[in-house]
Amino acid sequence: MDRSEQLAALLAEPAPDGSALAALCGEVIGDQKRLHNRLERISRISDGYQGELMRANRELAAANERLAKALDDVRTLSGFIPICSRCKRVRDDGGFWDDVETYIGKHSEAVLGHSVCPDCQDASHRHAGVVAIAQTQNDEADAEGAHLTAVLANAAWQGHPLREEYERLSMGFQKLARRLGKISRISDGFQTQLKHLNVALARASLTDPLTGLPNRRAMIEQLERATEIARNGPGYAVAMIDIDHFKRINDTFGHAIGDAVLRALASRLHAAQREGDFVARWGGEEFLLLLSGCDAHTARALCETLRAAIEDARVEHHDKHLAVTVSIGVAVHEPVLSFEDAIRDADRALYAAKSYGRNTVVCAEDL
Ligand code: GH3
Ligand code: MG
Ligand code: MG
Repeated sequence: MDRSEQLAALLAEPAPDGSALAALCGEVIGDQKRLHNRLERISRISDGYQGELMRANRELAAANERLAKALDDVRTLSGFIPICSRCKRVRDDGGFWDDVETYIGKHSEAVLGHSVCPDCQDASHRHAGVVAIAQTQNDEADAEGAHLTAVLANAAWQGHPLREEYERLSMGFQKLARRLGKISRISDGFQTQLKHLNVALARASLTDPLTGLPNRRAMIEQLERATEIARNGPGYAVAMIDIDHFKRINDTFGHAIGDAVLRALASRLHAAQREGDFVARWGGEEFLLLLSGCDAHTARALCETLRAAIEDARVEHHDKHLAVTVSIGVAVHEPVLSFEDAIRDADRALYAAKSYGRNTVVCAEDL
């Protein structure tokens, strides 16, 4: 007998049992809520598929357009093209030899861009340029020095009124040329320092200073990457991990011990990552774990192992051994939905884990 039949049977009795009726109604409401959640999720997924389909159609139309244009271009530049094997110039029908770029410009509708390629932009090229400037300055100073020695050794210049003045100017020139070389090297050093500083700054902006884990910003970058990969490749799941009664730990033992607990948990989560996973401090006492290539079943099993390991371990701080537990909400990312949707689902599952009494793992699929 399903619930509606049970309800009908109960109501058919002359004096229905009030508490049984209430319990049954509670179950029916629970069922309805679960159905509603599932329906909401399914409608989000279907919206996602619709969006994806529209995007794919647009891409297809654009690809068709590109293909048609490419075919046109091929038609314009076809047949035998005589090119000089040495200078690489091309002979056109009028017998003129043009460079390849001019030839393409004349014989097709192609538009040639003139930006600089990444190799040419490479900083090492700039570095090489600065070193070359420094070297040139030293070469000039050496050449001037050799010229001065030759002039001074020439008997014709002995006793000439300008000899001394030339010597003074030449020495000044050599000094300035060497100084310029030195300044070029120093400026090169500053450039390198600046580059290192920029790298360190970029790393710091993606790291949580307390735990050393990647921060929320770094995780968002990672989620965007994983979502892009999941379009055609392996999917992922997210697990929102929240320390149970953390406020109580702070209030009982102090903020410094609270911080030590956060650091200890962070290093445990960091050590537990599989290859391709990513863990970050999401905020406060919450951590987010990105589990790559995972279905709900595997994600749940991994999180359960993690939860049990955290429960069994103790956080040691000076002479204190603290028991810490976590609640975990897990959700599998749907390929057509955004990563924000997966996080919202994981948050909902975490909320349920807290309401079930904490120190537990709940999967959004089960709600
Ligand atoms: P629940 O089990 O429901 O998650 O309870 P809770 O006490 O863990 O959660 P609640 O949100 O009430 O409290 C979180 C606390 O975490 C409050 C805040 O002061 C503390 N907290 C956030 N960031 C830090 C931090 O960097 N260091 C320390 N020591 N405490 C922090
Ligand atoms: Mg919290
Ligand atoms: Mg908490």
